[in-house]
Amino acid sequence: MLNFEDEVAVSPIPGLGMQAVRGFMPASPANVGTRQQQAPAAGAEELRRIRVEDKRIINGRTDVNQLVPFKYKWAWEKYLSACANHWMPQEINMSRDIATWKDPNGLTEDERRIITRNLGFFVTADSLAANNIVLGTYRHISAPECRQYLLRQAFEEAIHTHAYQYIVESLGLDEGEVFNAYHEIRSIRDKDEFLIPFIDTLTNPAFKTGAPEADQQLLKSLIVFACIMEGLFFYVGFTQILAMGRQNKMTGAAEQYQYILRDESMHCNFGIDLINQIKMENPHLWTAAFRDEIQGYMKTAVELEYRYAEDTMPRGVLGLNAPMFKEYLRYIANRRCQQIGVEQLYPGASNPFPWMSEMTDLKKERNFFETRVIEYQTGGALSWE
Ligand code: FE
Repeated sequence: MLNFEDEVAVSPIPGLGMQAVRGFMPASPANVGTRQQQAPAAGAEELRRIRVEDKRIINGRTDVNQLVPFKYKWAWEKYLSACANHWMPQEINMSRDIATWKDPNGLTEDERRIITRNLGFFVTADSLAANNIVLGTYRHISAPECRQYLLRQAFEEAIHTHAYQYIVESLGLDEGEVFNAYHEIRSIRDKDEFLIPFIDTLTNPAFKTGAPEADQQLLKSLIVFACIMEGLFFYVGFTQILAMGRQNKMTGAAEQYQYILRDESMHCNFGIDLINQIKMENPHLWTAAFRDEIQGYMKTAVELEYRYAEDTMPRGVLGLNAPMFKEYLRYIANRRCQQIGVEQLYPGASNPFPWMSEMTDLKKERNFFETRVIEYQTGGALSWE
């Protein structure tokens, strides 16, 4: 019987014309060339076991199916933390929110506008995020530890879409209106239109890394995605709903958003680690012109998100107003620039919402709004009879 301690010979079997297959490599011109050259004669190089020092985040030539030996432990640890933070939307009791929403005096018109515009952006945002990972980023990353995290992240994006849908359904909102907001509401459409070219780069089946210009395109898309999409475009909406929860309104929705914010801050941090590791392994990509371009995108993103703040809050509401967000977005943009080593755009910008940082540190056990449904069941009701 074969057991996992046995040494398994992987050399070609003489006379049978079989080639040892080292594994599936991510598509990149470099890999294609390597395989073609080495395929006819599976020499010592081809059969060598994977060495940690050969692993690379992009354009790697080691087998992407072999998770260990670990090189990028930070990615594996984030994967473990993400799994430890697992949650599902149905765990959260929405009955108080439903009563508030149905009560004609439960919320002001401005508060209702915040809810519908928030959902209008988010119901499709996490789907864009999931597509970007599954059809784009995943293919171009050659470190299996990072791919493992991306698989978990993709599922979390699905949970987030589920959570937003669950809120829409619980409150009985007009689904057509909410799900079409990204076509019909200018401030939402503009944010998505800014993102789509970067998503298209990665999801284009013809796109391949390997040449410096292509690698810069990949890096640019990763930065836009982690630092702008997940790191900036979510923050007006998150702050608004969490501010509502802090005032004891729509606490179920606020609790959902709180779990989402915790996941998203990990997505953003993972993306930043990934970007910094690619920079370290490929310093030639990080040119002054490239950094200038990133600053330009960051500036545009701050303007787009600010317009979204103005559109969702035409007047002061919940102790918030659009101008407060100008400062907040500048503060966040500085932080994102600093995290990836780009010069800050708005020196001296301060955080008008320090309570938001506490929200990201939520432990699952801690029930901030105390709305948890305790009878929720995590396993299915399988019967083996
Ligand atoms: Fe995300």
